Amino acid sequence: MRYDDTIDDSRQFLRLTLELIGKHGLPTDPLNYCIWYEYASGRNEALNAAIDKHLESSGALTEEISRQLFNQHIANGTETVTALVREELKRVFSEIISAITTTNLNFSASENNLETIQESLVPSLSEADVDKIVSQIKREIKSLESSSTSFKQQLQQATQEIDELKIKMARYRDEAIKDPLTHIDNRRGFEKKLREAADHASISDTSLCLIIADIDRFKKVNDTHGHLVGDNVLRMVAATIKDSIKGKDLVARVGGEEFAILLPDTPFDGAMTLADNIRLTFERLDLKKKNTGENLGTLTLSFGVATYRKDEATDDFVHRADEALYRSKNAGRNKVTGL
Ligand code: GH3
Ligand code: MG
Ligand code: MG
Repeated sequence: MRYDDTIDDSRQFLRLTLELIGKHGLPTDPLNYCIWYEYASGRNEALNAAIDKHLESSGALTEEISRQLFNQHIANGTETVTALVREELKRVFSEIISAITTTNLNFSASENNLETIQESLVPSLSEADVDKIVSQIKREIKSLESSSTSFKQQLQQATQEIDELKIKMARYRDEAIKDPLTHIDNRRGFEKKLREAADHASISDTSLCLIIADIDRFKKVNDTHGHLVGDNVLRMVAATIKDSIKGKDLVARVGGEEFAILLPDTPFDGAMTLADNIRLTFERLDLKKKNTGENLGTLTLSFGVATYRKDEATDDFVHRADEALYRSKNAGRNKVTGL
């Protein structure tokens, strides 16, 4: 995320951002600033279209939807998460510093008052003077007590905010690598785990395989039954693949209707067999519409399989699996090809 708007433009966008946040009754947190600043500037067409679609269908954005929009259309991996957390930490720190400053001011005012009282302790004090001094001292003690109580409360609140921030940070991190539709890893999550798995395979000299699966003629599902049914099919495909793998295996949604299955410690033959078993599972499934039970016919997938070559660039590894998938498509679909 990089902004190089002119000062005038950025003022205008900020004014709009605040208006929009107010209009939709949202909290003024860094995440909402970011989403609505992007919206106001109109630089992110996909984000604007997604927001308009949500507003049209439900009239409001929930906190969860906002986070999903942010992760899908703005977040740039952990960099953005770190920037958000840094902003929130800055705010908590400035609250602590302001609490310390206020407490210091209150304490030095009390110190001055007590010094004045001390100076008035002369030998010729009457009983009335002593009474007066005693109540002055009591007042100062009360004021010191209340300053330190409020300081303690402010510190407790800051501690709580930092704890919440830690939880939020873990959630942001997690969401940045998850696909909101299917709840499996997205491309970013896949790439991260692919790098780790490739390093591990190179170091330990173990076999790592990759299957890329793409739904056949998926456009037709959307065209015939609508996007919502298409979305449900994608959820079902993700869940079915997830059920077919185990242990350290990982499935991610790496494109619209494309899934990557990463198989550490798996030989090429094993990966080919697994791909063919998944292919058969779908071939045998009779799909029905969730609400009406209407038959949707069968759904097939094409597969490309590749084995990692020690120290090869991960892009090349993925490219070979893609090439194998391409061959399955060209050979008539509903096929498994290994390269
Ligand atoms: P092929 O067998 O060659 O893969 O054909 P295809 O129709 O599956 O492939 P194509 O790339 O032509 O179209 C992919 C379709 O996937 C088009 C797009 O509308 C749909 N799609 C992508 N993402 C989503 C999504 O999130 N939800 C829904 N419902 N459809 C999606
Ligand atoms: Mg397809
Ligand atoms: Mg595709």
